Order: sequence, then C-alpha cells, then structure tokens
Amino acid sequence: MCYCCPTFDSNRYKFKRTKRYEIMVEILSKNIIPVNDAERLEALVKYEILYTSAEEAFDNITKMIAQVFAAPMAFISLVDKDDVFYKSQVGPFGKDQVARADSLCSLTILNTEPLVIEDASGEACFKDNPYVSVEGGIKFYAGAPLITKEGYNIGTACIVDTKQRKFSEEQKQLLVRFSKLVMHEIELRLITKTIMNNATEEMVARKRAEEVQKTLSSVLEALPEKGWTANELGEANYLTKGWYEYTGQAYGEAEGNGWTAAIHPDDMDELVKKWFETVRTGRVLHHEARIRNKEGEFRWHILRSVPINDSVGKITQWGGTCTDVHERNMKKEELETKVLERTIELERSNKSLGEFAYAASHDLKEPIRKIRYFLERIKDRLKEKLEEQDLQFFGRIDNAAQRMSTLIDDLLTYSSVSRGVSFSQEVDMNDMIGIVLEDLELEIQEKSGKITVAPLPTIQGHKRQLQQLFQNLITNALKYSKHDVPPVVHISFQQITDKDIPPGFTERAVTKEYHIIEVKDNGIGFEQTDAERIFQMFQRLHGKAEYEGTGIGLSIARKVAENHKGYIWAESEPGEGSTFKILFPVE
Ligand code: ADP
Repeated sequence: MCYCCPTFDSNRYKFKRTKRYEIMVEILSKNIIPVNDAERLEALVKYEILYTSAEEAFDNITKMIAQVFAAPMAFISLVDKDDVFYKSQVGPFGKDQVARADSLCSLTILNTEPLVIEDASGEACFKDNPYVSVEGGIKFYAGAPLITKEGYNIGTACIVDTKQRKFSEEQKQLLVRFSKLVMHEIELRLITKTIMNNATEEMVARKRAEEVQKTLSSVLEALPEKGWTANELGEANYLTKGWYEYTGQAYGEAEGNGWTAAIHPDDMDELVKKWFETVRTGRVLHHEARIRNKEGEFRWHILRSVPINDSVGKITQWGGTCTDVHERNMKKEELETKVLERTIELERSNKSLGEFAYAASHDLKEPIRKIRYFLERIKDRLKEKLEEQDLQFFGRIDNAAQRMSTLIDDLLTYSSVSRGVSFSQEVDMNDMIGIVLEDLELEIQEKSGKITVAPLPTIQGHKRQLQQLFQNLITNALKYSKHDVPPVVHISFQQITDKDIPPGFTERAVTKEYHIIEVKDNGIGFEQTDAERIFQMFQRLHGKAEYEGTGIGLSIARKVAENHKGYIWAESEPGEGSTFKILFPVE
C-alpha cells in the first residue's frame, strides 16, 4: 500500500506537467497537483492569509492539537502554488515554508479524508524526501485537509512525529474536528477583516466629509453674506452666524426645514421649484426671494448655491449664500416706475405737441392766405402810383408769405405722417407714381426733364403717404439737377432677400424678402458723408438762394418708409447724381 495517496484517483486528478510536477513524479511517482488547483489557489488567496504573521487564535489551536495528540510537532499549513506555508506551528521544525514537492501536506489536500502515514521510513515514495529520509526525520504524519465552504482543500491541520505511531479512527475524527475549527477561524478572520476594512472606509469617508464641512463652514463664515449647506431635499445641516443674526432664529431652529419660516410665503413655491430643478440638473441656483429679518421686515435676497462633490465626484450636498439686494431692487423698481412715468408723460406731451403743431399750422395758414390776399388788393389799388422798387418789395413780401405757406404745408404733412398709418390698402405703385408724375407735369416740362419708370410692384400701405414720399423724391431729383443738364430720372424695382439689406436696417428687419425701389437722378449729388444727415428735419445741403426748400421733405420720406416697416437711404457723389433707395417688406 502506498501511504501518500491511499485513495488516489487518477481520473479525478489529471496530470499537470509543470517542473514541480516532474520532480513530484520522480519522488512520489504520483501526481500531487489537483486538476482544479488554479481555482483552489484562487479560493486560498481570497482569505488573504498566505505568508501573514503568526496569530494567537491559530497558535492556540495548534497548541491544543499538539497537546491532545501528544505530538512533538503540530502545524496549520496552507498549500500555495509552489510552497507550503505554515501559518502556525508547535515544535522544533522552525521553517515557515517548504517546497510543495517536499511537503506531506501537499498529499493531504488531494483528498477530503485525513492522510495518515504511521511509518514513513520504509516507504519508497519518501526515499528522497529531505524531511523523511534524513537522520531523525519524520516517521509519523497525520493531517486533515482544511476544506472551504465551496469544497476547496486549501491546507491542513496536521501532526508530525519522528517516531512511528499508531493513529486510531477516533483520533482521525478528532483531527478532522480540529481542521474544521481551523477553517472556521480562517472564515471568521476574513469576515472580521472585511468588516474592519469597511468600517475604516466609512470612517475615512466620514472624516473627509467632516473636513470638507469644516472648510466649507469656515469659508462661508468668512463671507459677508448669510451662508448655508443643505442636502438634496433642501434640509439645511449648517447655517452661518450671519443667518442667525439676520433672521433672529435660534441655533438649531433653522436647521432641517426650519429656515423656510423666514422666507416670504409668496416666494416659497417658486423657490422650491427652482431648488429641485437645480438638484435635478446639478446646476447652480440663482434665485431671488424675500427673507424676513429679526425686525419682521422682508428683504430681497439673491439665493445662490453650488453642488459639492465627494472624492468620487458624487454630489453629496449643496452650499450656498443669501445676498441682500433689497436696496438695489428697490432702486431698480423706483427707476422702472420713473421711466414708465416719464414715457407716459413724454408720449402725452408728444401727442399734445403733435396736436398743437397740427392746430397751429392749420390756424397759421389762414392769416397767411389773408396777408397774400390783401397784399394783392393793395397792389391793385395802388397800381398806378407804385414805383418799380415798391413793386419789388411787394414781390418779396409775397415770396416770404408763399415760403411760409409751403413750410406750414410741409409741417402739416410731417405731423400727419408722424401719426403713423391709420389704415392700409393694396397700392399699385405704377398707378401711384402715375398720379405723382401727373401732378409734377408742369415742373417736368419746365425743366425739360425725362422720367422713366420700370414696372413696379403692388404693396400693402397708405396710398396718400406713399404718394407723398415719391413726390418728394421726384421733386428733389428735378430741383437738384445741374443748371445746364436736363434732369433724367429713372425709377426701378427689384426684389431682394434680407441678406442684401443695408446694415442700418438689419436690426429692424421683419421678414426675409423685400421690395427695393430706386429713384436715380443725374443731378448735382452730394457727399456720401451727408447721406444720413439729409433725412433729419430742416437739414439742407444747399442754400435757399440757389435751391428753394424747407428741409422737411426727406424727413417725411423716412417717416413714411418707417410707417411701412421699411427703410430709406441715399447713395451719392457730388456731380454724379444721387440714388434714393426705399425698402418695403414683402407681405
Ligand atoms: P428740401 O426742402 O431742402 O429739398 P429735403 O428734406 O427734401 O429738403 O432735402 C434735404 C436736403 O437734401 C436738400 O436740401 C438737399 O441739400 C439734399 N437733397 C435732397 N435730394 C437731393 C438730390 N436728389 N440731389 C442732391 N441733393 C439732394
């Protein structure tokens, strides 16, 4: 019989050809590496016990085993990949580990039953074993495997003697009990270790959180605002002295949901909504609410909060401040009321000014009509007596009255277009320009002018105002012609997109497509730097002596364009003629 592997089953343990194995085969002529060795080793490593220092709990059991069996040597061994490690031992052996190939424990783990070798000295399989074949070497060995819950044999509880011994069935069973006790201790050791580790981790996390809280509190306390930290439900776990001093709440009273007692009831719903939105999105809170001070006055505050992350980036709480912006808000409100009042006042005074201008202009027309009428009568009556110079004076009075009448007419027109567009209709621009040209027929003839008109679109607008606009432009084109060159005016049309509209109008653009009508003349022109100024009221580039005018015509034109959600601008060069461009949105 072979002692080393009495129940060896070659089918169960497949041979594994490692270097150690070769040695084993030589020494034992048997395989000592179980086929599941890799998983077995994995199970062993999990206990985190290999090559650890001696522990009292194990040493006590080893001592007990040695005592109970009256053995000179007892061991708790763990069979690693290449070596056998003795976690605990009693006796003179003294080594902490031996090569797996040389250890009898390597054989014990091959089976679930204990291995007993009563006299190893005569066995061929131990003939080269350095611990058996030597003088005073091992003669007796009894070991029970340490079997894990999953069924892996990770080591042994064993006794050794240098004398041969008998070992009864009861003793075998007792040794098995001891092996179970050792295994129990190993399991317990792992559980305790895990608990300890977790507890340490928890402790570290708690300590860290405390540190963060401490730093945060000191930062918040240093701020002039009221500060706080809270959990995701908005329950405050810390409030600064500033909060307690402002609200008059007692320490601890404001914690949890207590702080809400100081918020204005009308602001609470919105604040809660904003808070949960912030928590959900992980964003920064920035919200205004009224907070009551200890005198009972509600003052506006900006509530700001930021999420605070732990070491792995998880949001654990929120820290924030409440800044008093009451004064600022009050001033803003006051300012807004003032601006509103001023606007209403301005609108009212604009309206009455418009009304006044209209009424005044209207009323002024009558006396002027009378001045011109009576002037004509006097002239008739004194006809015979008047000298050439007197007639010139009369002529100048009449001219002045005429100019005044034109000015009043222009002012009246401006005042009426300033009131906007009361109604709009489809205006066929071809017809409309036709009427204007009919009205100006005499002037065109007088100047030997030539006016060409390309087909124009129909637009939605105020016919009378549009007529006014084009009348002013064509009148100017005729008026500001060169002395020796008959005026040539061309009116054209094209449709453009918002990409081509002038920069001055982009902000007011209301649609993507525009009609653009151009009135181009061959007149005296002007500097492009004056192109914007001429649209201002009473702005004239040319003297009265040379060219008659009131300086109101282009202001009316611009107002009309604006009334139609459009725009007018000019492009010119002295001596090269001018082009006036009018933009109307395509509706
Ligand atoms: P006015 O009654 O003086 O013609 P407008 O407001 O119509 O007033 O025009 C303002 C000024 O713009 C004019 O005085 C003139 O200097 C200049 N202007 C207007 N149209 C033309 C034009 N077609 N060619 C040259 N200058 C022009």
